[in-house]
Amino acid sequence: MYFHLILTDNCNLCCSYCRAKAFEETGGREETATTPIEIDPFLPSELDFDLSCLYNFLKKDPSATLTFYGGEPLMRTDLVSTIVREAPVQRFMIQTNGLLLDRLSPEIINRFSTILVSLDGPEGLTDANRGKGTYRKVIQNIKKIRHNGYTKELIARMTVNESTDIAGAVHWLADNPDYSFSSIHWQLDANFCDDFSHRRFADWIKKSYNPGILSLVTDWVDHMENEGKVLRWYPFLDPMDDLLKGRQSRLRCGSGYANYSIMTDGHIAPCPVMTGMSQYYVGHIQDADPQDLAVISVYGECTDCAIFGFCGGRCLYSNITKPWGKEGRHRVCSTVKYLYRCLTDAHPRVKDLIAGGAIHPADFSHEKFNGCEIIP
Ligand code: SF4
Ligand code: SF4
Repeated sequence: MYFHLILTDNCNLCCSYCRAKAFEETGGREETATTPIEIDPFLPSELDFDLSCLYNFLKKDPSATLTFYGGEPLMRTDLVSTIVREAPVQRFMIQTNGLLLDRLSPEIINRFSTILVSLDGPEGLTDANRGKGTYRKVIQNIKKIRHNGYTKELIARMTVNESTDIAGAVHWLADNPDYSFSSIHWQLDANFCDDFSHRRFADWIKKSYNPGILSLVTDWVDHMENEGKVLRWYPFLDPMDDLLKGRQSRLRCGSGYANYSIMTDGHIAPCPVMTGMSQYYVGHIQDADPQDLAVISVYGECTDCAIFGFCGGRCLYSNITKPWGKEGRHRVCSTVKYLYRCLTDAHPRVKDLIAGGAIHPADFSHEKFNGCEIIP
């Protein structure tokens, strides 16, 4: 089982698509959530339970993976270092903004099987979203951890919206040998808060995002043909792996059935973004069995969708909270349908490349539920 551990709600950035939205006027909700959402007002802002309680919980699962999450988890380097030294788990991962990576010792850093670092593409775009100087400091830290012996997976985790040229931004991060990213993932800043009426999302997906996806899928397969290498671009890699194996997928981030999140008070939520949404909690680390947690499934119109087995429902949190209403949600779904079409169109060519020996099915293998939502 995979667990996100929320160490703190605090963050040293105020990104435009994340914390800064709390200070924006919203357009109001066009649709109410199926069940009114209650948020626990007493959830502590910092981890507030005995670590032995966490370790007792984790040791009941022989294949536990622990991913540090926040806020910004490296605001608590003390806790990260202690838990990496002590927790009885199979592997550690971390999702970080990268600014404080230089505060962890190589001994701790080199224990991570995956590090996800948030960057949105070129310096100007990243700094406009995340704050001046962010890009350079993060790149400096990435070079440092590579220099200090970190050889495992390093994922650039992009948030994309109307200011993003998706093809240019992915290529920026993928093509520069200085960055040393092994993988790229991107997530649309869409249907996560009540801002649809402020956005020019529909126009952007038509004129920029979807054409960019088509060109990236073409580049991705061209690269297989020309270089014999499958680039680890998660929104393509995981779904294509399933298309090749003829498999359908549940919610691809794993939330609510393979991936759970431990809140700062020890309660267990289906997803790290469902912080304080106590009616969806599935237990507490004090007495829950990690291998027998209740399943929280995607429901509603997704279950009737023709591509449910490809998409898996995109996002459990959005399906519950419905911040963009029907129209906005359908716009987001249109991007998933477009991705599906691009990948199914590319599928025969990928199969031919495998049959011809240019690439191998094992080139698509990857760690599931590693913090990438997969469906942007
Ligand atoms: S495309 Fe939309 S409706 Fe279909 S499964 Fe995905 S999120 Fe649900
Ligand atoms: S995609 Fe949605 S359900 Fe999955 S981790 Fe992200 S916010 Fe949670």
